[in-house]
Amino acid sequence: MDYHVKDLSLAEKGVLRIEWAEKEMPVLRQIRKRFEKEKPLKGVKIAACLHVTTETANLMITLKAGGADVYLTASNPLSTQDDVAAALVKEFDIPVFAIHGEDRDTYYQHLYAVLDKEPNITMDDGGDLISTLHKEKQNLLDNVFGGTEETTTGVIRFKAMEKDGVLKFPVIAVNDAYTKHLFDNRYGTGQSTIDGILRATNRLLAGSVFVIAGYGWCGRGVAMRAAGMGAEVIVTEVDPLKALEARMDGFRVMPMIEAAKIGDFFVTVTGNINVIDKHHFEVMKDGAIVANSGHFDVEINIKALEELSVSQRDIRENVREYRLPDGRNIYLLAEGRLVNLAAAEGHPASVMDMSFANQALSAEYIYKNHDSLKPKVYKVPDELDFEVARLKLNAMGIQIDQLTEEQKEYLSSWEHGT
Ligand code: NAD
Ligand code: SAH
Repeated sequence: MDYHVKDLSLAEKGVLRIEWAEKEMPVLRQIRKRFEKEKPLKGVKIAACLHVTTETANLMITLKAGGADVYLTASNPLSTQDDVAAALVKEFDIPVFAIHGEDRDTYYQHLYAVLDKEPNITMDDGGDLISTLHKEKQNLLDNVFGGTEETTTGVIRFKAMEKDGVLKFPVIAVNDAYTKHLFDNRYGTGQSTIDGILRATNRLLAGSVFVIAGYGWCGRGVAMRAAGMGAEVIVTEVDPLKALEARMDGFRVMPMIEAAKIGDFFVTVTGNINVIDKHHFEVMKDGAIVANSGHFDVEINIKALEELSVSQRDIRENVREYRLPDGRNIYLLAEGRLVNLAAAEGHPASVMDMSFANQALSAEYIYKNHDSLKPKVYKVPDELDFEVARLKLNAMGIQIDQLTEEQKEYLSSWEHGT
């Protein structure tokens, strides 16, 4: 089998960790059971570019159980868990092309390796597979029935491609499912971002000033959890509605240039570039800790920080110290890449359970319906989204009420007055 991982002898540890995650993924487990019987993806080639974690491993095993030939590459050079990559290859016969800490060239070689398998379905997290296919591998486009996209920024990119008329096949925006972004982006990013910062720094959050750039789904989650740990949260935004919401949720709101002067911790979750820039570093306090949990390594202007500094050193794992000419130090976590996946293990399994249930059902949906789908970005069909919510509640042992016939009639009529 063709694969490229760090060390197959790590497989045993990976198998145990994959099993540990599986315990918290009841929805995906139920889908896997059905897939084993029905084989709805028989013979379908799937190229996945996702974070190589224990949760992703469970998705890959589920797709394979459904009959698919699965090929996995990393969606971020720092998020690969080498033991998981080894386990997938050695114990589950799933080809993986991913090594923790790989350089940019290797990252792209790995993308090409899975694309060269001539996939029928692509699974992206940030859009690298589809964008590489469209820019460099157009000869493979005809094989593709459709793709899925896991995260906000990827969906934005594909909507831009659709608008410009260059998107060549249908894409399902898994991120936009309610059972994805309302939970994964908020509660997942909320917890795992704090987890990454704490594992990297072992600093106390209580009593600190914690600045969050972006009050979207991820920002809300991080703010909620930082406040819960006793930090004073400041939010920076560019959208007046989100800024108002942050204020009414009890947080201070101000421009980054003001927040930069008083923050102890900074986290960007915007999907935008250079949100923390040269003029912000210039006014930061000595010891400020700066991290990104949004998109790739673009949200913090690392080049500007390098240019401002007189020396750099890695003072701890995932903590790089930049010394400025006046003696102040600024600490950048995880090279400005997603701190929750690079310095910790990403979101916990119970929240990825819903995200990846949507991925599995969307792959099945694409295969069943590709003849009628257009080269557009589609929502996850509501019936799949609600099915994931129902299965999750069921697995959590939570029952809910049903509408009575009288209530259904009341809610659908316009005739009832005061
Ligand atoms: P979102 O669209 O809900 O929120 C982004 C927010 O950032 C918006 O409110 C926007 O107004 C704000 N923003 C944009 N530019 C800004 C600027 N210059 N300063 C301050 N605020 C600015 O998106 P989301 O779902 O919260 O996702 C945010 C990013 O995180 C995306 O790149 C997404 O792909 C990524 N993401 C990461 C994880 C993770 O595991 N770390 C999980 C989900 C999403
Ligand atoms: N690939 C880009 C885009 C952001 S990744 C980058 O690395 O910068 C953000 C996505 O990671 C989220 O949408 C979330 O669903 C996913 N994610 C978070 N924790 C994960 C985990 N434990 N396993 C797999 N994917 C995870």
